[in-house]
Amino acid sequence: MKKWVALFVVILIIGTIFSGTLAEIKARGKLIIGTEPTFPPFEYVSENNEIVGFDIDIAQRIADELGVKLEIQNLPFDSLIPALMSDKIDLIVAGMTITEKRAKVIDFSIPYFNANQAIVVRGDEDFKPVKLDDLKGKKVAVQLGTTGDLVVSDIKEIKVTRFQKFTDAFLELENKRVDAVVLDEAVANAYVKTFPKFIISAVIDTGEKYGIGVKKGNKELLDFVNSVLSNMFKSPYDLLVEKWFEETK
Ligand code: GLN
Repeated sequence: MKKWVALFVVILIIGTIFSGTLAEIKARGKLIIGTEPTFPPFEYVSENNEIVGFDIDIAQRIADELGVKLEIQNLPFDSLIPALMSDKIDLIVAGMTITEKRAKVIDFSIPYFNANQAIVVRGDEDFKPVKLDDLKGKKVAVQLGTTGDLVVSDIKEIKVTRFQKFTDAFLELENKRVDAVVLDEAVANAYVKTFPKFIISAVIDTGEKYGIGVKKGNKELLDFVNSVLSNMFKSPYDLLVEKWFEETK
């Protein structure tokens, strides 16, 4: 009996030490990422009911380089960091902005995309805010826990309604229960393209950069993700320069 307990404890310890490491991911044969798929074109649910997008293609490349399958977990945005911290997922690939506060609890890859916030309103109305202050006294929908949520929550005169899904935030705008939605510009562009009744009335220069989230201290996985990203940034020309000049140095 004691032996079994000891064995169990050993397995538990090994499990904790190796969880999320490259060896463990390879042994399990899949890379598990967390994302919130109402964020086109980074991650959204396609007509075939699959989660696709820019981030998913990046995640697929990381999985390919590791020689494993990709598993995508669909989670609310504000659950992604807790899921990563408790080893439910290996990576957050969700258009997540690198912020000081988040970087205290998780590690981030090198930046892979620049972003700003956009204010989206109904096109057929006179209300056309050009700056955040114009939202004072107005009702604004955001996604819970996002940088859009942060910038509007900073101004106490704005009445903020927080949703898990951007699709619900836009439904609220459509039904005139809010006056605006604040979200990342590239995603705002995608929604406005699909729903031409909405327009972007302003872009707020927040100078954000997206990073892939890795569990704090998991340097091996972080280095791997960074190497995949930096290889993706290289053009065929860059690779030739590296081959013929830098490597002969
Ligand atoms: N970039 C924003 C953030 O990190 C929004 C991300 C998202 O909603 N997926 O808060």
